[in-house]
Amino acid sequence: MSVEGIAGRVKAVLATVPDGVAVVAAAKTRTPAEVREAVAAGVRVIGHNYVQEAAAMRRAFEAGVGGRGSEVRWHLIGHLQRNKATRAVGLFDMIETMDSMRLARAVDRHCGEIDKVMPVLIEINSGAELSKTGVTADEAAGLVREISNLTHVRVEGLMTMGPASGDPEDARPYFRLTKELFDRLAREGLPNVAMRHLSMGMSNSYRVAIEEGANVVRIGTGLFGPRGSGAPPAGV
Ligand SMILES: *Cc1c(COP(=O)(O)O)cnc(C)c1O
Repeated sequence: MSVEGIAGRVKAVLATVPDGVAVVAAAKTRTPAEVREAVAAGVRVIGHNYVQEAAAMRRAFEAGVGGRGSEVRWHLIGHLQRNKATRAVGLFDMIETMDSMRLARAVDRHCGEIDKVMPVLIEINSGAELSKTGVTADEAAGLVREISNLTHVRVEGLMTMGPASGDPEDARPYFRLTKELFDRLAREGLPNVAMRHLSMGMSNSYRVAIEEGANVVRIGTGLFGPRGSGAPPAGV
């Protein structure tokens, strides 16, 4: 995607997103130059699926913008393997895909070593039969309560993918279910839990997600253009 194309797309998307809704630029397979263009056009959060690729991208991005990299935050939006937790905690400002106590403990331990508190979102497998990552709505409350006991991990909300589908209306019931769970957990008022971010919706579904209460949307192709034309897909 040309640089002009990215700036135009970013501005168009940001113009349709209400105040208070954060746009995470889903940057898998993109180049640092493309990410810089998105940031120059107004993006403030970069999401990446893979720890290794994100590390290289962040380095290259920050080298290219001098000292201005600090205005940008980095979110992990792909599944985290425990053996990559050390690297991930030094790299990301938020982990949107927390889905087990074992992983939470690993993140907590590594964050303790660098004196950091990691904000996490619990990934909800809202379309239960279609996705392998995330916890079911039934499991979520227990996981949130358990994580609330950790000192270097802080639950700050929920994330969901919803089932992949061409029609964004198909995702609406899953977004609604996740929002209901979000509100229920918020009412519990657990100590060390702040239900403030609800991350739902991608390029084709973010408008529906916002209607259903999302205040974080993760957008890739809608900002950067179609994937897979130039660069090969990122490995794991
Ligand atoms: C790639 C990706 C997105 C964005 O998808 P697009 O359809 O390109 O907008 C959002 N969330 C996650 C977890 C992703 O991996």
